[in-house]
Amino acid sequence: MMFIEPANSPLQEIKSTLLDKHKLRLLVKRDDLLHPLVSGNKWRKLKYNLQEVSKQGLGSILSFGGAYSNHIYSLAAAGKIVGIKTIGVIRGEELDPQSNPTLKFASSCGMKLKFVSREKFREKYSKSFTRELEEEFGSFFLLPEGGSNALALPGCAEIVAELNKPFDYICSPCGTGGTIAGISSALNAHQTALGFSVLKAPGYIKEQVFQLLESTQLPKARNLEVIEDYHFGGYGKITRELIAFMESFENAHGFAIEPVYSAKMFYGIFDLANKGYFPTGSEIVAVHTGGLQGLYGMESRIRKIMGSNGNKT
Ligand SMILES: *Cc1c(COP(=O)(O)O)cnc(C)c1O
Repeated sequence: MMFIEPANSPLQEIKSTLLDKHKLRLLVKRDDLLHPLVSGNKWRKLKYNLQEVSKQGLGSILSFGGAYSNHIYSLAAAGKIVGIKTIGVIRGEELDPQSNPTLKFASSCGMKLKFVSREKFREKYSKSFTRELEEEFGSFFLLPEGGSNALALPGCAEIVAELNKPFDYICSPCGTGGTIAGISSALNAHQTALGFSVLKAPGYIKEQVFQLLESTQLPKARNLEVIEDYHFGGYGKITRELIAFMESFENAHGFAIEPVYSAKMFYGIFDLANKGYFPTGSEIVAVHTGGLQGLYGMESRIRKIMGSNGNKT
């Protein structure tokens, strides 16, 4: 089964005059290349969850997400590949799966979609809602939104194990904190996990990381820094400056990033480098957490932003 195979995504150095000027090395862990459909950190987080579900003999997994969720997309694809039924509870009653590429794909993989109001979605982990879902779908393995639970962390810790090079910093974008929690648990004392929050929610990621690590046998977060200055207005918010950065990044380095997570992290890394945050000689690893499927659903928003003030890139 594909999820038991060792992953080992490639490590690619990227060059820029800014990095040279500050004598920094930046290596990108290309987890976006792990799997064509189950991309990036979602592959890492699903790996041990899927094994557990198979072991317990449970027939289905239920999880939660927004309309463009990378997690929902990956879970639907993984479920189809390994032969486990999937159910996606989606935020937004009004959504039409046929008009949204993420949901259309999920449903084509056989995922059952249930649309709920934003109010109801906020109560998604309540006992009464779980009971309601069990009445509708039978018993299931409940995977939290974003796929972050205790079983997600060891999969993410394996990113560090695969880096057979010394490094000083390892960076990842953060939405629920699961990925950076797993990474931080695997570091040596002299290494720093640098999480770039994509949410406008001060203190939230650190809190989540501590709670997630609490629920495992993994070592507590060592040397974790959460950077909260590059959310660009909040989750899913994009600006002209961010999109221009994303496009010039792709032109300069030859691979795509997306605006919800990876572009915010790379923007942050370059900006911090420019401000002298990293000591001279630092070796920095940045995890490309994938999620490029989300770009399809954003194309018209991106065109509108770039078109409205004339395209400078
Ligand atoms: C889900 C996701 C993240 C956030 O990971 P967390 O473990 O929730 O912090 C980062 N990047 C991409 C591309 C994602 O899809």
